[in-house]
Amino acid sequence: MSEALNVEELFGKNVFTLGKMKERLPGTTFREVRKVMEHGGELSRESADVVAKAMKDWAVENGATHYTHWFQPLTGITAEKHDAFVTHPDEEGRTLLEFSGKELIKGESDASSFPSGGLRATFEARGYTVWDITSPAFLKEDATGVILCIPTAFCSYKGEALDKKTPLLRSMEAVSEQALRIVRLFGNTGATKVTASVGPEQEYFLVDRAKYLQREDLIFAGRSLFGAPAPKGQELEDHYYGAIRERIGAYMKDLNVELWKMGVTAKTQHNEVAPAQHELAPIYETANIAVDHNQLVMETMKKVAGRHGLTCLLHEKPFAGVNGSGKHDNWSLSTDNGVNLLDPGVTPNENVQFLLVLACILKAVDTHADLLRWSAADVGNDHRLGANEAPPAIISVFLGEQLEDVVKQLIETGMADHAIQGGKLRTGVSTLTDVEKDATDRNRTSPFAFTGNKFEFRSVGSSASIADPNTTLNSIVAEAFCEAADELEKADNFEIAVHDLIKKYLTEHQRIIFNGDGYSDAWVEEAARRGLPNIRSMVESASALTTPKAVKLFEKFHIFTKVELESREEVTYENYSKSINIEALTMIDMAKKQYIPAVMKYSGELARSVLAIKEAGAKATVETMQLKNISLKLEETQKALEALEKATAKAQSITDARKKAFAYKDQVFTAMEALRRPVDALETMVAREAWPVPAYSELIFEV
Ligand code: ADP
Ligand code: MG
Repeated sequence: MSEALNVEELFGKNVFTLGKMKERLPGTTFREVRKVMEHGGELSRESADVVAKAMKDWAVENGATHYTHWFQPLTGITAEKHDAFVTHPDEEGRTLLEFSGKELIKGESDASSFPSGGLRATFEARGYTVWDITSPAFLKEDATGVILCIPTAFCSYKGEALDKKTPLLRSMEAVSEQALRIVRLFGNTGATKVTASVGPEQEYFLVDRAKYLQREDLIFAGRSLFGAPAPKGQELEDHYYGAIRERIGAYMKDLNVELWKMGVTAKTQHNEVAPAQHELAPIYETANIAVDHNQLVMETMKKVAGRHGLTCLLHEKPFAGVNGSGKHDNWSLSTDNGVNLLDPGVTPNENVQFLLVLACILKAVDTHADLLRWSAADVGNDHRLGANEAPPAIISVFLGEQLEDVVKQLIETGMADHAIQGGKLRTGVSTLTDVEKDATDRNRTSPFAFTGNKFEFRSVGSSASIADPNTTLNSIVAEAFCEAADELEKADNFEIAVHDLIKKYLTEHQRIIFNGDGYSDAWVEEAARRGLPNIRSMVESASALTTPKAVKLFEKFHIFTKVELESREEVTYENYSKSINIEALTMIDMAKKQYIPAVMKYSGELARSVLAIKEAGAKATVETMQLKNISLKLEETQKALEALEKATAKAQSITDARKKAFAYKDQVFTAMEALRRPVDALETMVAREAWPVPAYSELIFEV
């Protein structure tokens, strides 16, 4: 029997929560902190000192020796540099542990080795980390000891954002301000703020660490670059929601404990579709904290795996032929007086505020589908989006039967006088209770689906930060709200004006609504007829950042300057080129040092046995045939290897970031696939013990 867990006691143990601040801070300081947390502004220097001391005392009581400004550079992961609390020893050689308000609020470091997309030359090295009071400080416990982590934003000397948090926070303020204008129009004067809430569902793979260590591709690229499919894949659908195996269960238990301690509400866990694939979902929370927590989830998943002799792969497509991993980004907007703007109620046709919000979101998604597509682009996600898996690369919105019908009524007659209801679910079994059905079924193929009282953006990749998607969503919706409010605030007759505006937006942007099968070829053609963008790859998505409409949007709401956008476009190209370069070099290395030598050895043995058998007077038909086939594939491998080396060298020599990225996509990536084919074929032709690395069957079925 395993030990019982006291979750209530564990939860948030390592977080400097509001509750702990209330206990430890003088009333006036606590109130000041709360005010800044909720409505912005600056903490006075004195209060910052008081908070820093309380935070340090709490951290030290819990074993902390260091603090760090924890931030999120454009690498998409987090960064930390630890500073001990120790101070200069006094005359008697004693040290005092100290931490000042100044150290809490601001950090300065040489940050020239983080991606900046040309925002800064290497000699302009100063970077500042600035305390984000809205995301609680927490303790990280690991082999380093206990570290006090202070979530921070990261900016250049000139104040340009060098991270993912700064624009996210800017976008949250923008959407709040504009959404408030909308709710005020409907008489909600009590609300002072509108918060974007996010719940990300995180998919991941677990493989045996010893086997992982035998595969250079998993180590360097996080995905298998070679590998013939196992005889069994996911076709029996027996892994999805299947009973969780002991080893995985022990991992999940440990993972939950670590996350709960850091205040992450790990809630749902299950086996996913592909063998060795799993999912964890937390309870939704403020977008900013959700982004921070998702980083902690990813990091903790990897850390805890090591303790169980496992390795966690967050890559979007670790194994060809079975499902890849994504991250459903559930997003909604709520006022601080308890109204979820995305809650349609039972009769959405009568909920005018909801219909206006919905119309604005449809307009935003249609106008900026290319930006949303960029926000979900990462190198691994190119294997999913548009590659016949997960959502297609074309952005469209699924509304479901009920809302689609309401929208249709509004467009056709300008009135919606009814809403389809779910009704009772009848099982035909007398002992089963009849239950209420939802008004709408689910649609698995839609990239942007309305699911009851939130939208679910499903294109996001499993390894990516969810900051970009949420920054983008908040920004585009802020713009649509702003344009609607500009119209409606000056209307003489609000009732008529809002009614007309909803109809106008729905009519103009109905092409973005699609409730059918997003995986079908018919949809690709239909989407093209509707003029919806079909952006198939990460590198093709990057230019969406610097179109005039994107620059106008982001500059208007002070989320990105044109220069910051250009830098992010550049970083997108750089990330892509660097990652594909690593993949190509890994393939070259594996082919040269592992696969080709192994096959040469095997065919050498075959050749010797052909000779021996013939000498002994038999025909050696099978051996000769196999030898011939293997030699042909080996020759194909050698040629493909040389072609890949050439393509890689050529791409490396290109200096323009955009051209370089396109060369990696069009030439290098294609050459990689051409090398993979004969190697995978060889894997099926030679004896298992002759193959130099663990096969798919061992990696994903023997965990
Ligand atoms: P599923 O999509 O599998 O049905 P759930 O409905 O339980 O799963 O929700 C998935 C995620 O969406 C969870 O993280 C959940 O907390 C989050 N979520 C639920 N309601 C909202 C909401 N109003 N806003 C944002 N996220 C939400
Ligand atoms: Mg979901």
